[in-house]
Amino acid sequence: MNNEMTLSFVAIEENEALARMAMTCFITPLDPTIEEISEFKTIVSEAVTNAILHGYENDGVSLVKIHAKIDDHTVSMTVSDEGAGIDNLARAMEPMYTSKPHMERSGMGFTIMESFSDSLSVESVIGSGTVVKFEKKFSPITETSRMR
Ligand code: ATP
Ligand code: MG
Repeated sequence: MNNEMTLSFVAIEENEALARMAMTCFITPLDPTIEEISEFKTIVSEAVTNAILHGYENDGVSLVKIHAKIDDHTVSMTVSDEGAGIDNLARAMEPMYTSKPHMERSGMGFTIMESFSDSLSVESVIGSGTVVKFEKKFSPITETSRMR
């Protein structure tokens, strides 16, 4: 199946749930397993939370954008912001690095996104914004999997 969508919303915490639910609906025709749904939701949640919180500091005005495509069993998605950007990407992607330890962030967002996706890449320019791109392959729909 092939499909394509875009979604944009202002940077407030409440919109993390909007993005998670919208993206879950988008992948439902792939008949994902419970585990696939849970992993996919987590990736969306981590990427969107980063854009809202780190990119835009919850400013309630700037737009987070999601673009997603389904090609057969593969979902490709970008989560973009035009916010703060990341000064040291290698350090930001290290497990347990957070620039907001006072907010009780664990610094595990990128590590979790990497482990639940088949590929993940990040482009970021300080002062211009960040684009997180990932792909996730879903298991093909079979007669047996229809009953799961
Ligand atoms: P957690 O995700 O565990 O709550 P965290 O968000 O700090 O904590 P990561 O998601 O791994 O951890 O991100 C690491 C760091 O990368 C962040 O602390 C932040 O400094 C930076 N970062 C991530 N995404 C963005 C973004 N969209 N814009 C600006 N900085 C970002
Ligand atoms: Mg994070």
